[in-house]
Amino acid sequence: MDGTDAIDPNGDPRAAVDRLMDGLRSDLERLAAIPSIAFPGYPAEPVREAHDLLVGLLRGAGVEHIETLDLPDTAPVIFGEIPPPTPDAPTVLLYSHYDVQPPGDESLWKSPPFEPTAIEGGLRARGIADDKSNVIAHLGMLRAFGGRPPVGVKIVFEGQEEYGSPFDAYPPTDPDRFACDAMVIADLGNLRPGTPTLTTGLRGAAEVTVEVRTLEEARHSGEFGGAAPDALLVLLKALATLHDVHGDVAVEGLRRDPWTGAGYTDEEFRELAGVEEGLPLLGSGTLGERLWSGPAITVIGLDVPSVAGAASAVVPHARAKLNLRFHPQQDPREAQDLLVRHLRSLRPFGIALTVTPGDTGPGYEASTGGPAYRAARAALKEAWGTDASYVATGGSIPLVNGLAQAAPNAEVLLFGAQDNLCNLHAPNERVLFSELHATVVAMCAFVREYAADFRSGS
Ligand SMILES: [Zn+2]
Repeated sequence: MDGTDAIDPNGDPRAAVDRLMDGLRSDLERLAAIPSIAFPGYPAEPVREAHDLLVGLLRGAGVEHIETLDLPDTAPVIFGEIPPPTPDAPTVLLYSHYDVQPPGDESLWKSPPFEPTAIEGGLRARGIADDKSNVIAHLGMLRAFGGRPPVGVKIVFEGQEEYGSPFDAYPPTDPDRFACDAMVIADLGNLRPGTPTLTTGLRGAAEVTVEVRTLEEARHSGEFGGAAPDALLVLLKALATLHDVHGDVAVEGLRRDPWTGAGYTDEEFRELAGVEEGLPLLGSGTLGERLWSGPAITVIGLDVPSVAGAASAVVPHARAKLNLRFHPQQDPREAQDLLVRHLRSLRPFGIALTVTPGDTGPGYEASTGGPAYRAARAALKEAWGTDASYVATGGSIPLVNGLAQAAPNAEVLLFGAQDNLCNLHAPNERVLFSELHATVVAMCAFVREYAADFRSGS
């Protein structure tokens, strides 16, 4: 790193970021050309290749202390450290992940998923937004300061976020390593391009399987239908009790609070969800309440005869998998139990259901009153020119809880270079240079403001 490019640590980072953008773009293209998919059945070499490329880039950005955490059953985790420049400077942990979702049906892509392709104002490739854009944004901040930002830095770049990783549970077992004053979890982005957004809540998730067996085997629907207990009808009757006539969740006790932050308009949400013209949305109340600070239950799978292979027979066995999303602060076991008990209390046509609880994942709600939030709000406003919105997300980032347990007093900031129109996990994922540029500016301004706040002794 040529130190002469480095910005004045107390000044406007924009000019330095302007100069860095070409290099950041080409590094993002190199990184996104590597199919670093950490799912079973995909080769491990590209994941290692992405890891090696990033280690090299971090060294080039002035990070001297870098090690790789090789934990069982997961991809290598890059851990880097830059000590605080002065004893009173805070330490900021920077998180993102370098693995990507599989590309899915490649025929739906307008260009090959691992050939980063220029589009208007940005680039298209699998993982170029989620989450390689944010890996590069962290790198941009480090470069802008010539590897010597005004805060101590800990870097955690994970390589198996998308599939799920035992690393989620690791940080509390090694808390010294993850000790910090604030973390920037950059695996997210803006509500819409140009709208700076801090995500302050993540809903929790739980799965439940519900099953019913009524006959030894299928029986002729002409001879037996009408009296033989039909497993599929029993299941459908049970599933129909999960929502009321408006489409709101009807399971008692699942927490639902008013949402006080920003949110989508109905039109934006329709567009994002691809809702067919003329159809209503489900549920009542604000979208924030329905999507973020209240519960949702989705039937995500059904084991029943398929239409194509359907025989004229009463169905003997049916099974459904339910995905429950719940309020960020509700206890996962409690939320799951409420759904399990609701289902067990049902007796459609007098028939009991077999209900099996599955995985749970806790939600997360950030406390937003501390110095890191103050610094981040100022930084996002500086970068995008408008006040930051607070949103939550239905998606979960399980590692956030692990990191928060390891560093319970650290403020947790969730922002980054993705945006809600970037097609993450879908065909034709893309990132916008405007968002990447502003995110690098925001990260630079954040560490500057945060360090200044510590110096002033507050
Ligand atoms: Zn991600």
